[in-house]
Amino acid sequence: MNAPEHPLLHPFQLPPFDRLRPEDVEPVITELIARARAAIERAVDERTPPTWEDFVAPLERALEQLSDAWGVIGHLHSVMDTPAWREAYNQMLPEVTRFWTELGQNEALYRKTQALAQSPEFARLSPERRRVIELDLRDHRLAGAELPPEKKPRHRDIQQELSALSAKFSENLLDATNAYQEWIEDEAQLSGIPEEVRAMARAAAQAQDRPGWCFTLQMPFYLPVMQYADDRALRERMYRAHATRASEFGPPERDNGPLIERIMALRGEEALLLGYPDYASYSLVPKMANEPEEVASFLRELAARAKPFALRDLEELRAFARDRLGLDPLEPWDIAYASEKLRQERYDYSEQEVRRYLPLPRVLEGLFALLERLFGVRLVPDTAPVWHPDVRFYRVERDGAPIAYFYVDLYARDTKRGGAWMDSAKSRRREGEFLMLPVAYLVCNFAPPVGGNPPTLTHDDVLTLFHEMGHGLHHMLTQVDEAPISGIHHVEWDAVELPSQFMENFAWEWEVLEKITAHVDTGEPLPRTLYEKMRAAKNFQAGMQMVRQIEFSLFDLRIHRELARAQEPAPERVPLADVLRILEEVRDEVAVIRPPSWHRFPQSFSHIFAGGYAAGYYSYKWAEVLSADAYEAFEEASARTGTVLDPDTGRRFWREILAVGASRPAAESFRAFRGREPRIDALLRHNGLIEEASEAHG
Ligand SMILES: [Zn+2]
Repeated sequence: MNAPEHPLLHPFQLPPFDRLRPEDVEPVITELIARARAAIERAVDERTPPTWEDFVAPLERALEQLSDAWGVIGHLHSVMDTPAWREAYNQMLPEVTRFWTELGQNEALYRKTQALAQSPEFARLSPERRRVIELDLRDHRLAGAELPPEKKPRHRDIQQELSALSAKFSENLLDATNAYQEWIEDEAQLSGIPEEVRAMARAAAQAQDRPGWCFTLQMPFYLPVMQYADDRALRERMYRAHATRASEFGPPERDNGPLIERIMALRGEEALLLGYPDYASYSLVPKMANEPEEVASFLRELAARAKPFALRDLEELRAFARDRLGLDPLEPWDIAYASEKLRQERYDYSEQEVRRYLPLPRVLEGLFALLERLFGVRLVPDTAPVWHPDVRFYRVERDGAPIAYFYVDLYARDTKRGGAWMDSAKSRRREGEFLMLPVAYLVCNFAPPVGGNPPTLTHDDVLTLFHEMGHGLHHMLTQVDEAPISGIHHVEWDAVELPSQFMENFAWEWEVLEKITAHVDTGEPLPRTLYEKMRAAKNFQAGMQMVRQIEFSLFDLRIHRELARAQEPAPERVPLADVLRILEEVRDEVAVIRPPSWHRFPQSFSHIFAGGYAAGYYSYKWAEVLSADAYEAFEEASARTGTVLDPDTGRRFWREILAVGASRPAAESFRAFRGREPRIDALLRHNGLIEEASEAHG
């Protein structure tokens, strides 16, 4: 097919999955980039007036075509990662990345958008369009568009060096993880380790033509060893190896310490260039939290509430380990092991037992019925070209009319990236009479059915499904007409998990589980006694888990506040000793478990040194507060109506949270739904971190 005729070169409602070939990627994307560049040139041309119709709309259309087409290719790269697709994707990735970086820094575009924002036309635009322009100006500023010409090259160099350092950080960590091998020849040393993990370790040894068992530091080996291995010395060896990965205790070429020193310095310099006092302040600009102090006091309040429970968890564990397991003192490499033994003793049921009650078709049916009841939307099976025979396609209807389309791809495949996610294929956009509907992908990695048995889910799988469905609803139930702020686009990083974590709550409700469960043999719903055990186990060691997350969050925030500071002249490096000192201070303040002094946690904290979470790790807890508090509105409705599945509250949640996208700040949406500011009480209560007596007031 010649590039000019290719379906990706025209706007589409549904991706043309039946007509996509890897060899078309290069010509099609090259053509779309050329068109986008031409659109930018027309936009900044002085003969083009700075109006919505002449300046904004045509450029937005050209950019959307490129991002939609590239989005489809990126999606295939994630779910059909064959050598041909991988090569096609990687070949064009640098070109596409360069295009978006240059767009962000384009000063002419920025100045013209500013001119529009200051013109009389601006006041006549709809509130949604004004919001699009304001966010666009902000994005340009954060990308360095306002920098004087002599400072731009330095800013670009910093970006380049930071992205290379991030990549190196992950590579070091991966290499260090893979470099360690624990060889076991004596089967007695495997005592306690589950059969399937032993089989993996045996296979790993056989792959190297050696007898015995080989364990590495990858999670599927490391976690079970720490949880189940009765051999304390084995646990200690692996704990040490894991805790010192990519540090000065290993080969220097894999040491992440010097990388951290450089990354922190460059982040400080970036803040300096862009006019912020420190990197944390810069990172928070597009987020819901306003400033580092607000985040710090949020984390400290949560810590103060959770710490007594964490201490109690730890005391319980110490006593159990001492009295029942003879482990005294409780060492760091005993914690997971003793915890697992305590959990088994206290809540005696297995995931496998629950799984028999959760056949996938029944769960999906129940989830769809829940959506119909809460939001009045129906998911109707439909047909469209898909990328794999397992993929299901649905039309989302309200009052008999389609409002979105939805692809669901649930089973693990060797061509699919791990994990679960929701992604946008199209965003809702209105142009005059024409309405483009939002389209979403939901992708999971559930175990595929074996033999003729119906596929079943673990309860964790069900939580994942509900979680991703929440993201999907956020994208598909949007009522915003401007694509850049419709659905999930431009929703604040620390608020985007609100609808997803919110939906998880329903998967813990008896009224819901009663309906979505049916034993694969008998068809019986989940027994109430088994449900009670699941509920009880839900908050096992919740206090310890909470303070651990707070420790990571506060450490991340403080180093980006105190060490990545804007100072002149910018230092070459930030001493690693300072990073470690802050970690110790944070632990003094919030932690209950003290890792040994040789533990090198920062060197493997890739979320903040190699991912997008720098000064943003707190987002998980922040969004959880919002989602728990929002869910509490349903619990309050239940106290009045006898059911959490309250359609009135559901419609309100749709109108104020799901429908509005980024057309207004997330804080405003939350207040509109809840009638007040968020409170942390619901989260604490849901995690069992609140005394019964104080529960009555909410
Ligand atoms: Zn999520």
